[in-house]
Amino acid sequence: MDFKFTLEQEALRKEFDDFFKEEAKNAPEGWVGGFEGRYDTDEGWAYHRSVAEKLAQKGWLSLPWPREYGGQELGLIEQAIFNEAWAYHRAPGVDFWGLYILAPSLLEYGSEENKREWLPRIARAETDWCQGWTEPNAGSDLASLTSRAVEDGDDYVINGQKMWTTGAHRATHIFLLARTDPDAPKHAGITYFVSEMDRPGITVRPLYYMDRSHVYNEVFFDNLRIPKKNVIGQVNQGWYVTMAGINFERSGCGAVAEGKRDLEDLVQFCKETERNGQLLAKNPIVRYKLAELATELEAARQWGYYVAWLQGKDPMAIAAPSASKYFTTELIVRLANTAVEIMGLYGTLKRGSKWAPLHGKFQTICQFYLGVTIAAGSTEIQKNLIAWMGLGLPRK
Ligand SMILES: Cc1cc2nc3c(=O)[nH]c(=O)nc-3n(C[C@H](O)[C@H](O)[C@H](O)COP(=O)(O)OP(=O)(O)OC[C@H]3O[C@@H](n4cnc5c(N)ncnc54)[C@H](O)[C@@H]3O)c2cc1C
Repeated sequence: MDFKFTLEQEALRKEFDDFFKEEAKNAPEGWVGGFEGRYDTDEGWAYHRSVAEKLAQKGWLSLPWPREYGGQELGLIEQAIFNEAWAYHRAPGVDFWGLYILAPSLLEYGSEENKREWLPRIARAETDWCQGWTEPNAGSDLASLTSRAVEDGDDYVINGQKMWTTGAHRATHIFLLARTDPDAPKHAGITYFVSEMDRPGITVRPLYYMDRSHVYNEVFFDNLRIPKKNVIGQVNQGWYVTMAGINFERSGCGAVAEGKRDLEDLVQFCKETERNGQLLAKNPIVRYKLAELATELEAARQWGYYVAWLQGKDPMAIAAPSASKYFTTELIVRLANTAVEIMGLYGTLKRGSKWAPLHGKFQTICQFYLGVTIAAGSTEIQKNLIAWMGLGLPRK
C-alpha cells in the first residue's frame, strides 16, 4: 500500500475541503453535525437538503460507481478522501443509508432494473433512505427477524415491526428485510425490499434517545403493499444482499476525521482554560491524555484508509472493516469521556446552557457514540467476527 496521495487525489482533497469549509458558513445556529444535527430539527434537515442538492450537482454522491448509473468511476480511496473532508467539517448532505449501504448492495446484487431505477435517484439526491433491519427481537441475531412478506398477485404484502430506524421520520424511502419463506433455514428465507415511506400501511413512531433528541424511530408495517419489482436481488436471497452493504457500513474514515476535529477543539480549550491558576495545557496528566488520543486517532485514520484500499480489491473483506468499526467507535467514546473529565463538572452540562464549554458538544458525543458502538453490529459482535474470520478461531 502506498501511503501518499497522488497529485490528482491531493487536488481532489483540496477541492472537497474548500467546498465544505465554505458550506459550513451556512450552518444553522447551534449546528452540532452528525445524525442529531440533521434529523432532530427542521432547520437541521433543511441544511442537510440544501447541501445534498449541491453535492448532487457536483457528482460527488456517486464517486465510485460506474458512469452508466450516474457515477464518476473513481476509487474507494477517493471516496475515503471525500468522507474525511465531509466529516471533518461536520457537514450534512450525504444520505449515509442510501449511499453507503443500499448502493453497494444494488451494485453487487441488484437486477439491471433495480440499478437503473434507484442508483441515479440516489446520485441526484432525490431520495433519503432509512434502514429497516432491526426488530424488537432481532438485533445482533438479525436473521431471526419475523416481519413477514406474503405474495399477492403482482405485490408482496408486509406485516411486522422495525426498531431503532434512524431518520425514518425524515426519509422518503426505506430498505427493509422481511421473511418470505418461514419454513426455510433462518438465513435462507429472507428477502430485501425497498419502499416509499408514504405508502399506506407504514406508521413511524419516535423513539426518543436518552438526551431526548428525535433521531431514531419504530416503524410498523400493517398490510404494506409493495410491487414485486421492488425486490432487490432474488427472493429469499436477502441475507446475501444485506451482507454486501453491511461491511461498507463498518469501514468509514468519517468518524476518525470528526474525532480529529473534536480533538483539535479540545486542545484549543486546554490552551485557553486555566484550572487552579494554571493552564490545562500545562498539566502533565492532561497533556499525556491528549497525546494518547492524537496517537490513537492517527492509527485509526491509517487503518480506515487501509480498509478503503482493501475493499477496492475485495468488497467482501470482513475482519478489517470490523476492526475499524470496533476501534474507532470505542476511541471516540474514550475521547468524549476524556474531554468531559478534563472539563470537570461543567463538561456534563447540556448544549443550551451558557456554562457548557464548547456548547456542550462533548457530553452530546458521549451519549451519541455510546449508541454508535452498538449500531451496525455491537463491539462484541465485531470482536467475534475478527476472532472467527480474521484469526481463524472456531466460530463458537
Ligand atoms: C444508535 C443506534 C442506531 C441504530 N440505527 C439502526 C437503523 O437505522 N436501522 C436498523 O435496522 N437498526 C439500527 N440499530 C440497531 C442495531 O443494529 C442493533 O441495536 C444492534 O445490532 C444490536 O442489537 P440489539 O439492540 O437487539 O441488542 P442485542 O442483540 O440484544 O444485544 C444485547 C447485548 O448482547 C451482546 N451480544 C449479542 N449477541 C452476542 C454474541 N453472539 N456474542 C457476544 N455478545 C453478544 C451485544 O453485544 C449487546 O451488548 C441502531 C442501534 C442503535 C443503538
